[in-house]
Amino acid sequence: MSARSRLLAAPALLLFALWGAPAEAHGIWGHIHVTGWAIENLPEGEVRDFFADPEVMNAALYGAAFADSGYWPQGGSLEAPARAYGEHTHWEPFIEDFVAWMQVHDPPPWTSQESRLRVAFLMGCASHGLQDELFDSLFIDQASLHDGVGQEATDPGIDGFLGLDGWLRFAPTPWIPMDVLLELYAPLDAGVDADVIQRSADLMELIYLRRPEAAATLGQQYAPRMPWTRANYLNPDLPGSLRAEVLPTARYLQALWDRLHGASLAEAPVIYAWPDAPRRLGSGEAGSLDSRVTLIFGAGLRYGETAPRWEDAATGAAVPFTRRNTRWDNPWTRLIRVWPDASLAPGSWQEVTLPAGVTLIHGGVTTGDFTHAVQVACEPGPMCPPVEGAPVADIGAPAPPEEPDAGAPPEDVGEDAGGDVGEEDVAAADVGEDVGEDVAADDAGEAPPPRGSDANNGWACAASGRPGSAGGVAWGLVALLGLALGVLGLRRPGS
Ligand SMILES: [Zn+2]
Repeated sequence: MSARSRLLAAPALLLFALWGAPAEAHGIWGHIHVTGWAIENLPEGEVRDFFADPEVMNAALYGAAFADSGYWPQGGSLEAPARAYGEHTHWEPFIEDFVAWMQVHDPPPWTSQESRLRVAFLMGCASHGLQDELFDSLFIDQASLHDGVGQEATDPGIDGFLGLDGWLRFAPTPWIPMDVLLELYAPLDAGVDADVIQRSADLMELIYLRRPEAAATLGQQYAPRMPWTRANYLNPDLPGSLRAEVLPTARYLQALWDRLHGASLAEAPVIYAWPDAPRRLGSGEAGSLDSRVTLIFGAGLRYGETAPRWEDAATGAAVPFTRRNTRWDNPWTRLIRVWPDASLAPGSWQEVTLPAGVTLIHGGVTTGDFTHAVQVACEPGPMCPPVEGAPVADIGAPAPPEEPDAGAPPEDVGEDAGGDVGEEDVAAADVGEDVGEDVAADDAGEAPPPRGSDANNGWACAASGRPGSAGGVAWGLVALLGLALGVLGLRRPGS
């Protein structure tokens, strides 16, 4: 390892500590693992067989990370175009463009490895977007209620808990279908070129994906603030938790496969619903977060045309309710949420129906009504016997816990990172310069302000996650020092 690489490596890790997981909605490790678990939970058949090739699996897992690569540049000329492609990659309009591109230029059967990797990458990107819609719309406000935290803490915190609790086992390596992406991003007219994409992806790779062991440190930082979140982020009974997302993601992968093969989904656009039977609605109380019913779609539906009904199954009486799409108010949405405006009788059965007649993003209009029946929770007894046989995704077992010392000297991990980074840091040097400019513009000791939803006009899933603890501040100061050293190293080639 060169002296320059050594100089680069430590600041890279320190930057990670400064910003945490700088910009994503549920963290990147979360996306990679929910997508990997979803593939492992696919039923026997051609979609599962497709992912049996480790290279194909890797392309899907990397695609699941890639959507957030555009959020890593935090300053300089790279930030705006990177953010533009990152945002766009999250949502169904991009996914549908990609599906349409494949149908025209690379239709099934995909006989070359490059074709198969493209399909897998597309499915990984799509899985990421669905997971953000689910998590942001259903889990974050639960974490806010129970732990008093928002997205700035849930995103990096849960990635940290995955590391701390021993769940990290997928570690994808980069594979980017650059030519296709450039064609699909061209209409954005945002200055997205191969250099922007590569440098952003390199930054994510250098600071985050090559540092899975650093996640545990992040988890230790957040654990004291988020006991409920840590106890529930893999709760299969809780809509929007990482584990609850696995089976809907698996269904979405199957729906994408069907779309790539020309299927309309018009007859059955709803691929999953929460609470999933035989689970009950957690509460019938008006306004409770546990009273929500969520319908999940295999393709974007035009939200403005959805006109669900809610009825008491026994009496047929209409239940007044509120309807929403995602937290981000996507016009082409992969879910709708409804919750009662009047309290429901414990133990009663309720029916939510989505009538036909909603436009699908890939053309056509839904033709089938979908009804989801669910019972409202009540005291255990004859009316509400114990729930048995509820679907639970198999996600394997965690590795034995290894709890690192949150205050460990950074030079140890920096050295370690340097060993991994090796000689490939030319691109990292480029992105580092942008980061350096950004930090230099701020007062020493102050990190860049968080990018919240306001900064994204309500359309981003991005929010900077930066530990607010005293430990986080200490890390930040050390990081700035390290960054200054790194920038010096970058600006003096050969030093
Ligand atoms: Zn995201």
